[in-house]
Amino acid sequence: MSGIYIHIPFCKQACHYCDFHFSTSMGKKEAMVAALRKELVMRKAEFKEEMVETIYFGGGTPSVLETEEIQAIIDSVYDNYKVTDNPEITLEANPDDLSKEKIKALSESPINRLSIGIQSFFEEDLKLMNRAHNAQEAENCIQEATTYFDNISIDLIYGVPDMTNQRWKENIEKALSFGIPHISSYALTVEPHTALASFIKKGLIKNVDDEVAQAHFHILSETLEAAGFESYEISNFGKPGYFSRNNTAYWQQKKYIGIGPSAHSYDGVRRGWNINNNPKYLKAIESGELPMETEVLSVTDTYNEYVMTGLRTIWGVSLSRIESVFGKKYREYALMQAENHLKDELLHIEGDTLLTTKKGRFLADGLASDLFMVNLQ
Ligand code: SF4
Repeated sequence: MSGIYIHIPFCKQACHYCDFHFSTSMGKKEAMVAALRKELVMRKAEFKEEMVETIYFGGGTPSVLETEEIQAIIDSVYDNYKVTDNPEITLEANPDDLSKEKIKALSESPINRLSIGIQSFFEEDLKLMNRAHNAQEAENCIQEATTYFDNISIDLIYGVPDMTNQRWKENIEKALSFGIPHISSYALTVEPHTALASFIKKGLIKNVDDEVAQAHFHILSETLEAAGFESYEISNFGKPGYFSRNNTAYWQQKKYIGIGPSAHSYDGVRRGWNINNNPKYLKAIESGELPMETEVLSVTDTYNEYVMTGLRTIWGVSLSRIESVFGKKYREYALMQAENHLKDELLHIEGDTLLTTKKGRFLADGLASDLFMVNLQ
């Protein structure tokens, strides 16, 4: 199973917390679409044998593209790659782009999954984050989207300064009221060089609080699990049959090609990343060069990545896979490093699989880093 990720590096305005790659100037949108299509052609040899199972438009804000532009990019995928009969084709979209007409037009395109960046249904949170939409638009667009799409995910952010447990619970309940089958939810993190970091430094906004985020995470897990969602990854909750195939492939170390500025790729051995600068990306592609750097992952890097992604998911970390892929010393090392966490009931072993417990789930990244191989090899 393989996937194609397409990065659309434009946003209408900069959200205060965001450090992704995007430009707020749309002047080069047409040229970018042409370049993305050209990169798809330039890289088709990388997927000679593979069937494409998922196509994912991420960003940035892919919904700033016209439906015809999205269709043209998908056509380039079909013209140059082998695509399975029922691929998952996801479009990340923001509520302010999703008019009734746009949703209808998208539903007539090959897009079959929408991932909508709601973040919150409360005006005060949206203002603090500097989102381009308001609370009413958030509700309206989901309502409209459910008329045309069945496979819908929304993003929600928790741990926002001044967000009480009650407000967070109301956010989740509002999301559930639309009957959508998938929710991705992340703790607000303060990335360096963002507006949020500078506001906190100046004392204009309270800092985020890990304990609040942890409490919100527990409310999230409990509320969604009670509503029939499975927490298949620490930030992703889906009803049975609606787990994101794109994300799942990524967590299971499947191959993917990342197209567009700042997009990452992985071929099972090497990781690659495209330049995160729109003008330089355009110039390179227009002159027939791939603006990509690559590195071959060491055995240790691959092990660390497997532990990190495995512990975040319900599939956990297979100890026999560690032994067969990386060697016995890696298995022994993982078990030795896990010992205290097993005693503290943050991790547990089921059969041959190492997993986080309910108590350890929120701490998955820290637990994984304790299992990282750093000195050996
Ligand atoms: S819309 Fe998404 S990518 Fe764009 S600035 Fe906001 S969070 Fe970042």
